[in-house]
Amino acid sequence: MIGQRESVSGAHFAFTDRWGGVSAAPYEELNLGGAVGDTPEAVRGNRELAAKSLGLDPAQVVWMNQVHGADVAVVDEPWGSTVPEVDAIVTVRRGLALAVLTADCVPVLLADPVAGIVAAAHAGRPGMVKGVVPAAVRAMVELGAEEDRIVARTGPSVCGRCYEVPEAMRAEVAAVEPAAHAETSWGTPALDVSAGVHAQLDRLGVCDRAQAPVCTLESDDHFSYRRDRTTGRLAGYVWLD
Ligand SMILES: [Zn+2]
Repeated sequence: MIGQRESVSGAHFAFTDRWGGVSAAPYEELNLGGAVGDTPEAVRGNRELAAKSLGLDPAQVVWMNQVHGADVAVVDEPWGSTVPEVDAIVTVRRGLALAVLTADCVPVLLADPVAGIVAAAHAGRPGMVKGVVPAAVRAMVELGAEEDRIVARTGPSVCGRCYEVPEAMRAEVAAVEPAAHAETSWGTPALDVSAGVHAQLDRLGVCDRAQAPVCTLESDDHFSYRRDRTTGRLAGYVWLD
């Protein structure tokens, strides 16, 4: 259910694994994504189960309509009927949880516990290149956060030894973010998107950073789009007391 959980000065970070939900194969068990072909009833049930295990009200969890972009929305309450197409959300509202869905992409959770500001971002290869994470940090700073107070946690994602890409794509991405340059364990061109995200955060002065040790593609306990194609979505949650 909850694979990883951490609290830092009243800011809470959590990442799910694939177990403990009600979805049938190939979304078993805890699919939290609403746009992957699973039944809406199962997704709703799973979101309730995950929220309850975190001590959250499922109605106070804000999800995104993620599109691999770099747009950021500031939210202070759950969306109405329309969920905007953004890949990062920021809030100053205590108790409102921000959630990001992934299955190989990098889920990024950010908090400035002193200012009382949190953000969640979805950084796959396109989002990392477009700078969705720096955009989220800028939005936090505009609301009063300070980079050197921000705590950043990235969750399970496909690692640089597994994420094979064509040589030209690696060159294109590495020209923007050299830290993402990687090689597969079998010696072909690859990308390490998480390393790219951490390099971006490091340049912004976000020093309190940690990366989940899990590679989604290598882990049977996590959903991986590259491994399974039709599969569920994991979630990362961040909120303030
Ligand atoms: Zn891997």
